[in-house]
Amino acid sequence: MPELPELRLRVANDAPIRRDREYVLYWMIAARRPRDSFALDRAIAHARELSVPLVILEPLRVGYRWASARHHRFVIDGMADNQRAFASTPATYIPYVEPSPGAGRGLLAALASRASVVVTDEAPGFFLPRMIDAASRALDVRLEVVDSCGILPLRAVERVFPTAHAFRRTLHRVLPAHLEEAPSQRPFAGKELAKLGRSGQDLLGDRWREASAELLAGDPARLAALPIDASVPPTSLRGGAKAANAVLRRFMGERLHRYGTERSQPGDEVASGLSPYLHFGHISSHRILRTIFKDESWAPTKLGKPTGSRAGWWGLSESAESFLDELITWRELGFNMASKRADYDTFESLPHWAQRTIEAHAEDPREYVYSAQEFERAATHDPLWNAAQRQLVAEGRIHNYLRMLWGKKIYEWSATAEDALAVMIELNNKYALDGRDPNSYSGIFWVLGRYDRAWGPERPVIGMLRPMSSANTARKLRVRGYLERYGPQPSLL
Ligand SMILES: Cc1cc2nc3c(=O)[nH]c(=O)nc-3n(C[C@H](O)[C@H](O)[C@H](O)COP(=O)(O)OP(=O)(O)OC[C@H]3O[C@@H](n4cnc5c(N)ncnc54)[C@H](O)[C@@H]3O)c2cc1C
Repeated sequence: MPELPELRLRVANDAPIRRDREYVLYWMIAARRPRDSFALDRAIAHARELSVPLVILEPLRVGYRWASARHHRFVIDGMADNQRAFASTPATYIPYVEPSPGAGRGLLAALASRASVVVTDEAPGFFLPRMIDAASRALDVRLEVVDSCGILPLRAVERVFPTAHAFRRTLHRVLPAHLEEAPSQRPFAGKELAKLGRSGQDLLGDRWREASAELLAGDPARLAALPIDASVPPTSLRGGAKAANAVLRRFMGERLHRYGTERSQPGDEVASGLSPYLHFGHISSHRILRTIFKDESWAPTKLGKPTGSRAGWWGLSESAESFLDELITWRELGFNMASKRADYDTFESLPHWAQRTIEAHAEDPREYVYSAQEFERAATHDPLWNAAQRQLVAEGRIHNYLRMLWGKKIYEWSATAEDALAVMIELNNKYALDGRDPNSYSGIFWVLGRYDRAWGPERPVIGMLRPMSSANTARKLRVRGYLERYGPQPSLL
């Protein structure tokens, strides 16, 4: 069997591999793509070694918090892509969308009862770790959890990092050993694999139905029939591996060269727009990294000294270095936290200095206090904040710089830090296409001091937290176009 980097594999239970069974099951829950996935590679390797077919189950539940038409449509777009991609392989692909809460219960166990081994994705944060734990207890067959989350395997470092700088220093030391490890770009190429003699629906029997062709094709009526929040509608952004690759191509061709200098300008679209695709696993960091390396003819000999500095280590252009600092340092910092601390989404996980300063200013009078509903309706006194909130509601995203301002103001205009956290988590995870990610919590908790330092002088309400103001933002950045675009339009809300 081809080597899977040991650090990327976790065997989640004591049950054996059952060689007398029918197939290998890949339970695709996070790396929702047909290539560039260590878990898919592992499942294929098992199937070949055992000389049995490969069955891939990609499920989507309905009974979880924030399940909405917007996020369902994005994931279902990805299922349609996957169905097309796996149709030309020997694997049997089963897209399953739960029609009602709990309808999918028992499906994994039923499919696993005929499997020799089950492989799934490591997925820190949200409800997925609990779902994997429950499966590991219930299955009578070996469950392997494979980490395709980022460039650095989650288990390559033991500790949690207080700052991006501390993490970057470690990355510079340990990452080079992992840069050669990449999942397969063409996982089935040149590999003999047994084919299942029956259809996916046949395996599901009478109790469960594969997602219909109409639902996969994006039929609004089929989506509307699902018991999910229809008040958060799909955006114009299509999900899936195909769309993700198009977004990557556009970024490489039109934006990357300006990223280092213009990323913060809200009027320009210079950032990649890849976060929803990364979140749902429609694209992998490895693919993005490979594309940049190829574009800049990179070789390992270009790596600099491990100084922990933001720029200069990779030996790439300034823009590419700046982008990789977000994609690897910042993104994987969030995965590090969510995978190692169960309390990553609680107030108590903030650094002590931040908790202390927040508590010291808890009773300070606030100039404005808004309710969760007022925030949601973009009904504050601040046009720039309202515009950011409208963009979030309408498009499922906020420009990164304004996202920081958005969070800072929610903190300043809430009665307590706990209220602010609840509002940020609710609005971000309800509307943002990249919400519910480990980095949702990095960003939201950064507002309250995580990964940051104390900023003097001490101010009312925010204490030693880093200040941000709309007036300064408007002075520094070109916001007029943004305000025009996302100004008050009653139809948006
Ligand atoms: C209050 C707040 C909430 C946030 N919520 C989320 C969220 O729900 N999901 C999410 O993925 N990110 C979140 N972020 C981080 C950041 O805003 C987004 O990752 C980024 O704007 C996504 O746009 P992009 O893909 O065009 O980024 P690019 O600038 O093109 O960056 C490429 C990738 O690097 C990663 N990245 C970029 N910036 C950051 C960052 N500051 N922290 C961590 N990773 C980063 C993302 O995976 C991103 O897709 C939040 C930030 C704040 C301040």
